[in-house]
Amino acid sequence: MLSWVDFAVVSLIVQKFGGSSLADADSVKRVARRIVATKAEGHQVVVVVSAMGDTTDELLDLAEQVSPKPPARELDMLLTSGERISMALLAMAISDLGEDARSYTGSQAGLITDSAHGAARIIDVTPGRIAEALNEGAIPIVAGFQGVAQDTKDITTLGRGGSDTTAVALAAALEASVCEIYTDVDGVFSADPRVVPAARKLEFVTYEEMLELAAVGAKVLHLRCVEYARRFDLPIHVRSSFSQREGTYVLSPEAIETAIAEGRAMEQPIISGVAADVNDAKVTVVGVPDEPGRAAAIFRALADAGINVDMIVQNVSAASTGRTDVTFTCPQGSAAKATDALESGSGAIGFESLVIDDQIAKVSLVGAGMRSHPGVSATFFAALAEASINVEMISTSEIRISVVTRVDDAKRAVQALHTAFGLDADGEAVVYGGTGR
Ligand code: ASP
Ligand code: MG
Repeated sequence: MLSWVDFAVVSLIVQKFGGSSLADADSVKRVARRIVATKAEGHQVVVVVSAMGDTTDELLDLAEQVSPKPPARELDMLLTSGERISMALLAMAISDLGEDARSYTGSQAGLITDSAHGAARIIDVTPGRIAEALNEGAIPIVAGFQGVAQDTKDITTLGRGGSDTTAVALAAALEASVCEIYTDVDGVFSADPRVVPAARKLEFVTYEEMLELAAVGAKVLHLRCVEYARRFDLPIHVRSSFSQREGTYVLSPEAIETAIAEGRAMEQPIISGVAADVNDAKVTVVGVPDEPGRAAAIFRALADAGINVDMIVQNVSAASTGRTDVTFTCPQGSAAKATDALESGSGAIGFESLVIDDQIAKVSLVGAGMRSHPGVSATFFAALAEASINVEMISTSEIRISVVTRVDDAKRAVQALHTAFGLDADGEAVVYGGTGR
């Protein structure tokens, strides 16, 4: 099979290694060998690293022990040290293999961000020093997850899992042919292999499908990195650092169509995956007067409190009372804030009571083929019915169906849907341990 990506004679590849691939000294040496092997094949390589193992979590714990509410600037300064440990060690290991490797902080690599500490957005990438190192035949190693704020000049972080975004941003700026994201699983799967042992590795997914999968709990790639890749039409190759196997390519629909037309890929499946997210809570606003302006008051109060609302359902109102119930989901971590916000706005809303339920899961089916294939919903709900799983809420996009179920039913729901849509593979997926970050 030809490769998904058209490699020119000398092509530039950005390789990102996650924390599970850099857990200890031996892993660092193993990754170093892999990088040097890629260079030996004739490619130019730029490397982006995450912090080793659980370093970021350990640094967060440490900060918490020192201060209950650390200043955001200092927390960012602390957290970026994790990636700096990785980059320097990896550069040392590569030097030992006889190659010139040079490590750079995000700031040195030209990752310019806004000043939103803890969740900074990349606003410019000026990788002059990286290009220079490449021209001199060196292998640049860049600390992921960090940048420097354009206005304050302070060091920032991009949010948890942000090294993926660093890698894609650098790859786009350097016009790399592909951004390889190395992790501890073989690629993007049709379901979490820890939940569905028969999950299959996907050969490719579109950016859009990957965005939907990432948003519904498939924790393979940082959401923003996929948005970024889509914007620049940059191929991402998610693969394991523990095997040589081809992983999953994340591409534009046009690139996939071309590959199919040229016989490099089989026909695109209707459904690409099933995922469950157990981190949401369901809030029901009971007894809301059924008249114009009440829903507006509810969601204005939530928006003002900075709550991200996902699904929304309004019941048919009871004719006798003229009142109705409005139910929405939001991250569990914001449920308390949501009820506070609603209670303080209760005058304008006029509800009777609030019910919070955090024992829920959102189970989602994603597939670009849904657009053109009727019957997907019918199969979806039949599978859940056969498994005796009650559906509490429903929402859809053009390429996704999501339902809220009891959290205890989530695993069975994912398994039932995976089987019903013919996604079960023959062999079992390989999971190499680690945290998946
Ligand atoms: N080390 C950071 C984290 O654990 C960034 C990353 O892994 O991408 O979130
Ligand atoms: Mg990490």
